[in-house]
Amino acid sequence: MVLLKSIKSKIFVFAIIATLTPSLGLGLLSFRQNEAQISENVTRELRALASQASRELELWINKHIRAVRALSTSNAVIDGLSATAHPRAGKSNNTPQALTHYLRSVQSKLDTILELTVVDAAGQILASSAAAPSAVTLPQSWPENALTEGVVLVPPHWEKQRATATLSVAVPVLSYDNVLMGALVAVLDLRTAQPYLKSSTKSPPGEVLLLDQNGRELLSSRAISTTKLMSLDAAVLRQMLSQPGESMVFQGLMHREVIGLADIPAALPVTIVAEQDRADVYATWVDLRNLYLALVCILVLVVTAVAFRMGRSIVTPLQHLINAANSIASGNLDVRLPVTRNDEFGHLTRIFNQMADKLRHSHAEIVATNQAMQQQNQLLEKLSITDGLTGLYNRSKLDAILIDEMARFKRNLRPFAVLMMDIDYFKTLNDSHGHIAGDEVITAVANILSRSIRIVDYAARYGGDEFIIIMVETTADMALKTAERIRSQVNDMRYSANGQLVSVTVSIGVVQCQQSDDVTPTAVFSRADSALYEAKRAGRNRAHYAA
Ligand code: GH3
Ligand code: MG
Repeated sequence: MVLLKSIKSKIFVFAIIATLTPSLGLGLLSFRQNEAQISENVTRELRALASQASRELELWINKHIRAVRALSTSNAVIDGLSATAHPRAGKSNNTPQALTHYLRSVQSKLDTILELTVVDAAGQILASSAAAPSAVTLPQSWPENALTEGVVLVPPHWEKQRATATLSVAVPVLSYDNVLMGALVAVLDLRTAQPYLKSSTKSPPGEVLLLDQNGRELLSSRAISTTKLMSLDAAVLRQMLSQPGESMVFQGLMHREVIGLADIPAALPVTIVAEQDRADVYATWVDLRNLYLALVCILVLVVTAVAFRMGRSIVTPLQHLINAANSIASGNLDVRLPVTRNDEFGHLTRIFNQMADKLRHSHAEIVATNQAMQQQNQLLEKLSITDGLTGLYNRSKLDAILIDEMARFKRNLRPFAVLMMDIDYFKTLNDSHGHIAGDEVITAVANILSRSIRIVDYAARYGGDEFIIIMVETTADMALKTAERIRSQVNDMRYSANGQLVSVTVSIGVVQCQQSDDVTPTAVFSRADSALYEAKRAGRNRAHYAA
């Protein structure tokens, strides 16, 4: 979960989950309920639609049976039928031809009726308006209400040559003394029932179809094609018929998804299918759902923006604190954060600044202490290697220097010289002018020494009135010249003690380090001491080189 590593993303995710879960959950629940409600309403409306259509169809069929019934009681039909059954000569106006003329004339006036045929009680066709009348099979026994109503002889079906759906109805024809003589059969054009079907769909809205047993569309509340007969999917029809009055969703004849249910009316052996366009039914619901989703999206956007701001308001000061802490950790203590807020972060920033101040203060103290200690150390180091009176190197440092120089000499065999020097008759000076004056003379001589050597050479106080000079990369000749210069300068020096001008001299022994003799520092000093002794012995105030 790389995503959840930062506080900002955690706030983001939390805010979005906290917004989406309840809104989508409740929305889903409510839309499910709405959907169920809509589905229930549609089913109720479709049932109403189907039963209205059924009633209208019944009205239509009854109206036409009544019309046929009226015809069946006309004199022309009764007389024509009885004349045909009992032909009597001389009554030419009651011949089958006359009946046929009558039937034709009536049929041509009624556009609902496609064919009118009179049959005798055995079902034999006696006269018909059609040139080739449809075959008629009368019921074995007429139902009880047939005398007042009529019967449907041939259920609605498609007639290709007429390009319409038809159905045949029959009414019994009785003689004047109420004896059943035959029947008047009318072939009705089902198209004329279309306005009835249409009127049933005014409220509630929808479409009504009339299907035959094979699911073929015979009639519809909307206009149908007369050339291409459409059929409802057999499986769909089967399923609808298996649960009459229950709505289901299926592909309608107009290739659109519809919600529909099937009903079989009492008046006719057909299937009435009432349907509503699914998209229309759910249009408002879909609009509402889309509006709701849009609102949820806006809500998520707003929440995201708020979460982003919140995240930033937490992460930004935190990042400043982290940067400042990093800066301190890497040694930069001059960090001060501006306190811009009055909340927990403001408080934390103030504490952080106080901590940084204290750290700075402590650090300054430590630095000062360190500096003081360093200075003390440097002083101690200097004291440990220098002579207190003259400031020249002391004896122990001299030993170390000589050891180093001898080691280097051993490695590279470059010559170096040692000058040992002693103030002449110093005891006498001490005695006559005092110890303090003696010290000042020692210091004055030391100053001449310091000035007379190169920066690479070393001058040390060997002890009492004795000094040593180590001259690196120097031969005996060069060393002797330096010794002579020193001697001369000391000789020229005048020192004022107790109102008298005092002069001193020095004797100097010079040796050049030898590979064969000078194995230890003591050996070198010993040879230098011998050279010094020779200088003293020769009369002092001179430099002597011991080869
Ligand atoms: P020489 O010419 O043979 O060297 O005779 P000298 O009198 O100088 O004899 P020596 O060098 O042996 O005497 C050194 C004297 O230096 C002995 C001591 O009293 C004196 N002395 C040693 N250290 C100090 C010091 O630190 N200050 C003073 N004022 N005198 C010192
Ligand atoms: Mg001396």
